[in-house]
Amino acid sequence: MAENKLLSLIVPVYNEEHVLSMFMKRVAEVLKTIPDIQAEYIFINDGSTDRTLENLIALKATYPQIKIIDFSRNFGKEAALTAGLQHAKGDITIPIDVDLQDPPELIAEMVVKWREGFDVVLAHRSNRDSDSFLKRFSAKWFYKLHNKISSPPMPDNVGDYRLMSRQVVDALNSLPESTRFMKGLFAWVGFKSTQIEYVREERAAGESKFNGWKLWNFALEGLTSFGTVPLRIWTYVGILVAGISFILTLKILIQVLFMGIDVPGYASLMVAVTFLGGLQLIGIGTLGEYLGRTYMESKNRPVFIIREIL
Ligand code: UDP
Ligand code: MG
Repeated sequence: MAENKLLSLIVPVYNEEHVLSMFMKRVAEVLKTIPDIQAEYIFINDGSTDRTLENLIALKATYPQIKIIDFSRNFGKEAALTAGLQHAKGDITIPIDVDLQDPPELIAEMVVKWREGFDVVLAHRSNRDSDSFLKRFSAKWFYKLHNKISSPPMPDNVGDYRLMSRQVVDALNSLPESTRFMKGLFAWVGFKSTQIEYVREERAAGESKFNGWKLWNFALEGLTSFGTVPLRIWTYVGILVAGISFILTLKILIQVLFMGIDVPGYASLMVAVTFLGGLQLIGIGTLGEYLGRTYMESKNRPVFIIREIL
């Protein structure tokens, strides 16, 4: 018989009091069917304000494999994943959402792929029907844009739900930055990957913690942390606009020289002024995005603060 391997499940939770026991039951059921695997559950309580922590402690009595990392406040899912990865002891590690949108049944399939020799097994969503139209649409364009301007490319329609070998987790833990766009970091470290298909289910209970504005900021973080194209593109836009202005200047000069001074021109003047003003503001804004991130990074603050480990 092969020796038992340890699987670390990383479960970030933020105000999820109603799904915890449902989650444990279903996952434990699945894990029983996987041979030669032992599991540890690392719950990261991301500053929940409901009874999440109490419920977790109660569950720990039934499932002693549970480890609880209790944050001092809400630091966000990316920080929670980072903490989980740092505490995972497993030969393999899988981050999973507690709301059962990531079907635990896939774990068996992931482990099979890992035993075939893959370091990363991604769960690829074959359709996003459980998402709203807006979320699907924005996700599609986010991946398109991101993969055009950043490298390495990020596989589309995969979330944080994936299996990672020990080596991959160690590589992730060695990355020093405090802006942690996990999906990007996952792709950045590389290793031998494969995908398995699944259909994302509806949330089991409670509601999504990600609204439109949060997702937009998340997307900005993704775009700015893996490339500098948005920063550099302004040089080219500038050259183009300056070129057009130069041609326009020539035209006006020739007109003045050969046809005399032409007073009307209010419209073209306004257009030029406002258009350039807008371009400059976009350029400055882009600089600001990067400068802000450099500033945050330079403070070198920890990504999260742990109140207690249970
Ligand atoms: N989550 C978290 N901190 C946050 C927001 C969410 O730990 O600030 C957890 C949440 O409890 C869940 C997972 O991240 O386990 C995914 O969140 P959610 O289901 O709200 O996101 P969605 O599936 O709607 O993208
Ligand atoms: Mg969810």
